[in-house]
Amino acid sequence: MNKKILLIAGHGGTDSGAVGNNRKEAIEVRSIAYSLYEKLKNEIEIEYYNPSVKHNSTKDYAKYKGYNVIEIHLNSAGSIATGTEVLIKKGYKPDSLDTALLHTLGKYFRNRGFKYRDDLYSMNTFGSLGITYRLIEICFINNINDLNVLDKNYNSIINDLSSTIKPYGIKKVTTNTTVNTPVTTNYYPKVNQNNKSIVDALRSIGVDCSFTNRLKIASKNGFVNYTGSAEQNIRMLNLLKNGKLKK
Ligand SMILES: [Zn+2]
Repeated sequence: MNKKILLIAGHGGTDSGAVGNNRKEAIEVRSIAYSLYEKLKNEIEIEYYNPSVKHNSTKDYAKYKGYNVIEIHLNSAGSIATGTEVLIKKGYKPDSLDTALLHTLGKYFRNRGFKYRDDLYSMNTFGSLGITYRLIEICFINNINDLNVLDKNYNSIINDLSSTIKPYGIKKVTTNTTVNTPVTTNYYPKVNQNNKSIVDALRSIGVDCSFTNRLKIASKNGFVNYTGSAEQNIRMLNLLKNGKLKK
């Protein structure tokens, strides 16, 4: 049955998740989840769970009755561990979306199969609310080969995961907006107030944080002679925190 999709980036709030190869899981998975959301938001009914809140509220999860939930993580273990896993609740059988997600990720990473768990808060909470849920461990953050595969194939992985998820969603009804469309300014979504660097903040919402792209963003936002100075970056970060950074 087709359902609305809810994407959750693992480790909400200030929880950094696993750390490996100088990268933080929470930042990586926010970027992945947000990129998927951006890719699919005009095609299907989809939501991106607010990453700035800690994921521990049954009341909040209850709002998602009738949704199909996909939570995204990166794994961590001994440095020789490698590959991708889909975690589902013990006692349940993988459904076709679980199988499709594992198959898609298995094209890039070693397929470690399904793991059945009964000790994960979000999984148990969604389960007790009768909401379909799975947790995907894309690859291992502490394995440099896995991370290289992720970085090298980032766009292709996002595209493939989007096409895997899309057939399970509810098609967005598009209204004809060619007439009387008001001219609106588009802003990047607000980022967590705790962000200390514009680079991490942009990454957290799946935006290219390279100097070249920041230069483009700077010119759209009226910065004169953007050089990436600390002062300019703080100004840009503050605009982003307030949801006032123009696209
Ligand atoms: Zn995690």
